[in-house]
Amino acid sequence: MAEILIDTYFCSNCMTCVELCPEVFYFNEDTEKIELTSINPEITEDVRQAVAYCPEKCIEIKN
Ligand code: SF4
Repeated sequence: MAEILIDTYFCSNCMTCVELCPEVFYFNEDTEKIELTSINPEITEDVRQAVAYCPEKCIEIKN
């Protein structure tokens, strides 16, 4: 099963992924980091868009 990894070290909290795919990505106000809404989200076209448009290239889909 594919997994989505976010390298929060490189993430700039630009919110692009949240805007493109709020079903899967959200900003956790407590940790101040982007997190996933579920452990095994479906890899939809919106997820792929978020990966493609992340300016820091810090979202990875791992198979
Ligand atoms: S698009 Fe990339 S850099 Fe921007 S908030 Fe999402 S993970 Fe972070």
